Amino acid sequence: MCGSVPGKYSAAEKREGPNAKNSLEANSAPVAQLDSASPSEGEGCPFEPGREHHFSADDESGIRTAMFLAERAAAAGDVPVGALLHVDGWMFEAWNEKEARPDPTAHAEMLALAQAARVLGRWRIGGTLYVTKEPCAMCAGAIAAARIERLVFGCSDPKGGAAGGVVDLLASPVHNHRVAVRGGVLAAETGAQLRAFFALRRGRGNED
Ligand code: ZN
Repeated sequence: MCGSVPGKYSAAEKREGPNAKNSLEANSAPVAQLDSASPSEGEGCPFEPGREHHFSADDESGIRTAMFLAERAAAAGDVPVGALLHVDGWMFEAWNEKEARPDPTAHAEMLALAQAARVLGRWRIGGTLYVTKEPCAMCAGAIAAARIERLVFGCSDPKGGAAGGVVDLLASPVHNHRVAVRGGVLAAETGAQLRAFFALRRGRGNED
């Protein structure tokens, strides 16, 4: 152990500042993959809601916190996806910063895993990862590589989801680590958060 006291950790405090202003007017931002997602996205999972069959209050609480973090992404012009990683008494908070950094790998899940690895000093991270949207292929691979024990996510992503939405990398024999997956927690709310972001961006685009 590094001797640190477990607690809530967020790299965000160091990144607040100029980037924290609302930059939704930045219409030059590339269209994200979800921009063309079907209108039904998020209105419930179009596939089986995970491999477990009851939602605990803790899971809903984790997703609600991740939704709060996702708003920080939206405020910076990034697609609102938030992640919360709970491991060994720590809470690692992250949100999508692909545009803000810019970095194609700066998805919320990747940033949460990187923070945890840095603070805990290990790559076998474990714990439970809460994320507002089904992870993409890159993040699903990283989640398995980090030996995350449980993945809890909100809405599914029928365009790019890699936990059952399009492909299911976490059930694939390509990974010899099995992650327990629960999808569809607060699916309607998390889907609405994404749709609201894209609706606002389209609206502003029309005004300009
Ligand atoms: Zn991702």
